[in-house]
Amino acid sequence: MSLLIHNVNIFTNDDSNTVIHSGAVAIEDNRIIAVGDEKDLISRYSDFNRLDGFGRLLMPGFTNVHMHFYGMYARGLALTKPMNNFHEILQHLWWALDKVLDMDAVYYSALIPSILSVRKGVTSVIDHHASPNAIDGSLDRIQEALEKVGMRGILCYETSDRDGKDIRTKGLQENERYIRKIQAAKDENPDFMFDGMVGLHASFTLDDDSLEQAAALCENVNRGVHIHMLEDKVDEILTREKYGHGVVERLQHFGLLGDKSITAHGIFVDDDDIAMLADSDSIIVHQAQSNMNNAVGRADVFKLLENGITVGIGTDGMTPDLRREAMTGYLLHKHHLSDNNLGWSEFEQMTLKNNPTIYERLSGQKVGRIAEDYLADIILLDYYPPTPLTGDNLWGHFLFGIVDTPVNTTIINGKVMMHDKIIGHLDEVKIAAESRKIAEKVWQKFHDS
Ligand SMILES: [Zn+2]
Repeated sequence: MSLLIHNVNIFTNDDSNTVIHSGAVAIEDNRIIAVGDEKDLISRYSDFNRLDGFGRLLMPGFTNVHMHFYGMYARGLALTKPMNNFHEILQHLWWALDKVLDMDAVYYSALIPSILSVRKGVTSVIDHHASPNAIDGSLDRIQEALEKVGMRGILCYETSDRDGKDIRTKGLQENERYIRKIQAAKDENPDFMFDGMVGLHASFTLDDDSLEQAAALCENVNRGVHIHMLEDKVDEILTREKYGHGVVERLQHFGLLGDKSITAHGIFVDDDDIAMLADSDSIIVHQAQSNMNNAVGRADVFKLLENGITVGIGTDGMTPDLRREAMTGYLLHKHHLSDNNLGWSEFEQMTLKNNPTIYERLSGQKVGRIAEDYLADIILLDYYPPTPLTGDNLWGHFLFGIVDTPVNTTIINGKVMMHDKIIGHLDEVKIAAESRKIAEKVWQKFHDS
């Protein structure tokens, strides 16, 4: 397909934050082939199909680098057991909910947030999935849901010893099966829209033999781990109690840190931990909304960034909307540290630059920029700037305007998935109705358990 999007203001998200007023973007198949002045591109690509942006803002789609689709079935769920700390939140909500998911629940729990992702301009996602009684093939079901919507994704299964060795082994096998399947697909088509990682829950629910096997698997399939790390003190306390080492030290000992590994949260890292994470070039993902919701504390993202760590922003299942997450994170740190000057450039860096960098590092796919040869993951927002918009002040427009602006059009891999706010290939009302039926069964099982 050949498409020329014209009559738009473009935020390219390149290194200079270039903004092009009255611009156009030419797309051939799944890639951007030209970006520039509208008149020039209209004459050069006169035979392309046209999409008139009516003066909207065009920018790259967002990337969410830590998500839990399966959390969707917690929405509205009545909770009756005590949840007075993070460990109890896991025991009485998440570890109880993930056990009652069957394959249909896995599918719909991915489908609904994927639809909202497209509505919110999120075009690629890194998910972390758990369904201990429906493991084999669960990543295929999530992929199927994402394909139905048209999203790009990196998937993994959350291996843990918390439900016994059999389920632990099935978790590792699901990661291996899925990654090998993806590798075969990528051999055929390097632009295949999915990739995989070796998913692990967290140090305190993983025995030494599990970490050893995970490390061997990472080496065999040339992928990193996607693990929660020091989201709460319980991770450090129980890891020391059970295994006699600190969390980061233990991950390093088993060879699980590295430039392909995502460690989510990192709230309770000390200076030695930061040095190990920086030396290994491991990725840390920050989730302010989730941390605030669980009242577990605040990751010192400034110190992590100062030490050269690639820190990204994820939503941790709270929402598919990355813009809301970025705004919340920006406010949290200023408020907590009583310093109104904090966070401006850091949150811009993490949200707009580091997230696509992380995605590219893990999948080899060039996303997050409106530039020649980048994949055509593009959004058009109903943003008509009421004050002058330049590359220098883009982040100010983002936090106080773009963050609330409806997305009009979402294009992923060169395909128009939503236009004029209509996702034409999906019946959202019917999908939600089907999901509610499944939710009733899931909730019944949750309360019976
Ligand atoms: Zn998480």
